[in-house]
Amino acid sequence: MKTNFQNRRDFIKTTSLAAASLPLFGALNSLAQDSAPKRKIGFALLGLGNLSTHQIAPALQKTKFCKLAGIVTGHPAKAEQWKVQYNIPDKNIYNYDNMDQMADNSDIDVVYVVTPNALHAGHTIKAARAGKHVLCEKPMEISVAKCQQMIDECKKAGKQLAIGYRLHFEPNNLECVRLAREKTFGDVRVIEAGFGFPIGDPTQWRLKKDLAGGGPLMDVGIYALQATRYLSGEEPVEVSATTTVTDPVKFKDIEESIVWQMKFPSGIISYNSASYKVPGIAGFKAFADRGWFGLDPAYGYGGISGQRSDGQLIQLPQVDQFAAEMDDFAQCILENRPTRVPGEEGLRDLKIMMAIYESAKTGRKISLI
Ligand code: NAD
Repeated sequence: MKTNFQNRRDFIKTTSLAAASLPLFGALNSLAQDSAPKRKIGFALLGLGNLSTHQIAPALQKTKFCKLAGIVTGHPAKAEQWKVQYNIPDKNIYNYDNMDQMADNSDIDVVYVVTPNALHAGHTIKAARAGKHVLCEKPMEISVAKCQQMIDECKKAGKQLAIGYRLHFEPNNLECVRLAREKTFGDVRVIEAGFGFPIGDPTQWRLKKDLAGGGPLMDVGIYALQATRYLSGEEPVEVSATTTVTDPVKFKDIEESIVWQMKFPSGIISYNSASYKVPGIAGFKAFADRGWFGLDPAYGYGGISGQRSDGQLIQLPQVDQFAAEMDDFAQCILENRPTRVPGEEGLRDLKIMMAIYESAKTGRKISLI
């Protein structure tokens, strides 16, 4: 099976834009600055933690097709602070218990779900039942069944569901996909990809399996998994994995580090890693018949750059990925076309990550066909 990147015509358009000169590429980032949109899509941010506060709300201010219309929070003090900072009217401020009343609020088109992983389904379903489109952060949820339920409920409500895969809107990542698809260095045969960082606060939800669903694989390994899937343009048919824990007090619930391998239908193989222990695992490299290319760092909010075996650097402009992701979703809604990062894409990752965990647990290779 091919990934969305391979299938969708607009992706090819996007990748060729990424490969083109700087001014041309601006078309992706600014998303049609030449004409004012007929109306802006109203976003309500649900979960006002780190990501919402430091990335998404500031990014909303840079969008062309979106506006921060409302919030959903369990903390009245945060509601007050956001109300003042972003000029949000009282009628657009909700908590988790009364958010169903959003059904009557035409200011809000989209709910952006930015809570701990295991709460995504509940919040997505409430939003869909209130008649709102949903943009949900990665990982989509912590089980395949819950991802499927999210897809079904959004379909039933006739609303779109997108997953916050911001790198699908990042020029340097898109350029690497172009190099792979156009076989600039021949067929890609081997991919290495990993992401890790030493995690701090031992009390945070990311270390709790019931809220996070797993450890670094679910949180940051998902970027390495995504990169391997969009570089190969294929879905893995087999995975094997090993986990380790050297600090059983901090990592009593989840893996501390994980390495896994994947095999793809064309014969491409990958080796991947994710860690909550060590710094420096931050990129990917694709090895093809006549050379290689890759990004390191590959997955940050900025500062992404890479190299090719012919000596050229990969250094396309940095964009605000959250702004690009939200503007694209807004345009999908305005133009009634499907998102390139639908719930089904999140579900695919969950299926693979569950197989990776199963392999680590059983010591067996797990087939995905
Ligand atoms: P965070 O802990 O900073 O914020 C989580 C928010 O959820 C807080 O406002 C908290 O009050 C709220 N919340 C509601 N119910 C809760 C509960 N029962 N327990 C704990 N918190 C609860 O987390 P974050 O870093 O903002 O991450 C939120 C989501 O965004 C996660 O799914 C994460 O994977 C994702 N994320 C994505 C990116 C990205 O680059 N796309 C980066 C960071 C986080």
